[in-house]
Amino acid sequence: MTSWTGESTPAAPLTVTASGVAYTDPLQDAVARDLHGVLWALCTGTATGKPEYTAELHPDRQRTAMEGLLCACCSQPAARNKDGMLWVLPLLDDAVDPRWEGVRSAIPPMCEPCSVSAPLLCPRLRDGHVLLRVREAELIGVLGTLYPRPGSHDAPGHDAVVLYDSPTMPFVVARQAVRELRRVTVVAFAAATP
Ligand SMILES: [Zn+2]
Repeated sequence: MTSWTGESTPAAPLTVTASGVAYTDPLQDAVARDLHGVLWALCTGTATGKPEYTAELHPDRQRTAMEGLLCACCSQPAARNKDGMLWVLPLLDDAVDPRWEGVRSAIPPMCEPCSVSAPLLCPRLRDGHVLLRVREAELIGVLGTLYPRPGSHDAPGHDAVVLYDSPTMPFVVARQAVRELRRVTVVAFAAATP
């Protein structure tokens, strides 16, 4: 949801072979891979200026928050209580299990203060959101750009969710870590605010 003006995600030259996608520069490629060998989008620039509430968090910030279970907005530890960790998610267009069980989220959890302020600032949440308490949130994969295999005439898929055990994982450039939410308690729904 939040990027900062001054941050940008330029496209570095990529090479797609039968074994997967890689940055053409081997040093860049090595730096951009995580412990799973997943290739991540490269980011430059520093956070300056004002936050921009866009559809996705900045990749570095999102990954740090998601992997460390830090607040999506302020990077403090996310709120926990006896029912689990606090997640605030936009209402999705597609049908979701009414219990929100098994939802895959690229949005990190939140702290209590941000769960109040973020829906006022973020357009996606302002259009309606749900507050959840979540007991299990396993990292299951990434959201990113999925490149077609060599010889295919398909265009790259820009918003592909690819699981860690998927055979297509070598062909993705990840932008966001994805967790699957389980043992979910729905706390409240909020309708769109004008
Ligand atoms: Zn916060």
